[in-house]
Amino acid sequence: MRGVIMHAPGDVRVEERENPTIVEPTDAIVRLAASSICGSDLWPYRGAEPVDHTPMGHEYAGVVTEIGAEVKKIKVGDFIVGSFFASDNTCEICHAGYQTFCIHRQPGAATGAQSEFLRVPLADGTLVATPGQPDPELIPSLLAASDVLGTGWFGAVAAEVGPGKTVAVVGDGAVGLLGILAARQLGAERIIAMSRHTDRQALAREYGATDIVEERGDEGVAKIKELTDGLGAHSVIEAVGTQESMMQAIRATRAGGHVGYVGVSHDVSLDGLGLFFSGVHLHGGPAPVRRFLPDLIQLIWDRKIDPGKVFDLTLPLVQAAEGYQAMDERRAIKVLLTID
Ligand SMILES: [Zn+2]
Repeated sequence: MRGVIMHAPGDVRVEERENPTIVEPTDAIVRLAASSICGSDLWPYRGAEPVDHTPMGHEYAGVVTEIGAEVKKIKVGDFIVGSFFASDNTCEICHAGYQTFCIHRQPGAATGAQSEFLRVPLADGTLVATPGQPDPELIPSLLAASDVLGTGWFGAVAAEVGPGKTVAVVGDGAVGLLGILAARQLGAERIIAMSRHTDRQALAREYGATDIVEERGDEGVAKIKELTDGLGAHSVIEAVGTQESMMQAIRATRAGGHVGYVGVSHDVSLDGLGLFFSGVHLHGGPAPVRRFLPDLIQLIWDRKIDPGKVFDLTLPLVQAAEGYQAMDERRAIKVLLTID
């Protein structure tokens, strides 16, 4: 099969690789319907995380072609969606809805999902089957559910978004945009998108943003305060992961409000005294996408949400390197890789 290997920062190649096979009796093999590049794949691409001949990709949806002897719920032929951590979905932590911290967690796409086939561990706990074989037009949205939608959704849930609340979203990448979609679905009254890119602002509005703030840092915080009678937002979704975005999120939140942080943190350090006097709740981390998958799949199946719109560039798998480049240069919000 063909699959993406990142040899070193900036060096992405599509190579002929061994097809994955069942290793543990709880594994499943999936033929991917399509693949995608995640904003977090850009960290190693830019040299901000170590990478050395690494199989890439952790967002996946497709058809199960083989199962291990102990897989009971997932069947060959099921169309499934999974997420970036495999989980048993039976331990206490999973039952509490934190499958990304499952006591048996392991990478959900260890063999790399930017490829034709994938081995998924703990298939019964990790994978969720769709009600039937999806129409091709639903595949981008199902793929989005696998990570960026689930992550944006968790950001909104962690920020305690709900009816009557004002929500601010820091970050206009796919996760931030889908955080807006989630906030809308969860009943937020007002949704402020922080974005300075016209095309992303348009999608933000389509997904439910009521206001756009282009300013960043101190000015961005001042603008949010101005829009909220000087108080700050009830809920802020942080979907970037830098020092600037994290501080912007905390400072834009009113006392007693909630920050849901889902941007993978890179070199962020918080000042204890500043945090003490902020009076805000902080919750976040790697999103337990598995918790939300059944509901998200149903919303997509019923065509109530269209998260697949975040894919604004589609390329064949063999052109993955061009896809990385386009996302790195911010020419694309998110890239869908077709597999044929
Ligand atoms: Zn578990």
